[in-house]
Amino acid sequence: NDATRDLREMVRAIPDYPKTGIIFRDVTTLFGNAEGLARTVDAIADHVAGHGIDLIAGIDARGFILGGALAVRMRKGFVPIRKRGKLPADVYREEYSLEYGTDEVEIHKDAVPAGGATVLLVDDLIATGGTAIAAARLIQRAGGTVPMAAFAIDLPELGGARKLAGIGIDSYAVMS
Ligand code: 5GP
Repeated sequence: NDATRDLREMVRAIPDYPKTGIIFRDVTTLFGNAEGLARTVDAIADHVAGHGIDLIAGIDARGFILGGALAVRMRKGFVPIRKRGKLPADVYREEYSLEYGTDEVEIHKDAVPAGGATVLLVDDLIATGGTAIAAARLIQRAGGTVPMAAFAIDLPELGGARKLAGIGIDSYAVMS
């Protein structure tokens, strides 16, 4: 729509990356723009306001940019969900499938405070939803509840947001 057209224009489309036939949405151009980054973060903060979010979890690596900025704006702590082997303390691990093969993400076992927390999951983009669902499972295993997930971009034809809805997670994207 009109409200997000200029934001959408800040996302650069890279044809045939990482392989032939894929159009990669490059968010470095969006995040490199002062208005682009601030308005993306503001839109998410406005959407999630009043939902009792205690903690922000961001997915390695572009989810750290958005989630870190959002955590500061909302004055919440930030939890990284990382690719396998990067976190130094005890972790939970989830495997998820990619188009070819699998990948693994991890969270520190003590990332969610004792007694639980309402966690907002953040990433730059949702496509099939495989990454976000694995990340949500990690947060749940660590004792958090994940009512909502937020993204800069949704590619709705890939069905990720629908899959999240199927496990009870309401997803929001600034652009689709
Ligand atoms: P999914 O697991 O939903 O299929 O893929 C989403 C994950 O892959 C996210 O962590 C996202 O960063 C990355 N990803 C997949 N396609 C793109 C893309 O076109 N642009 C960007 N920036 N990230 C992508």
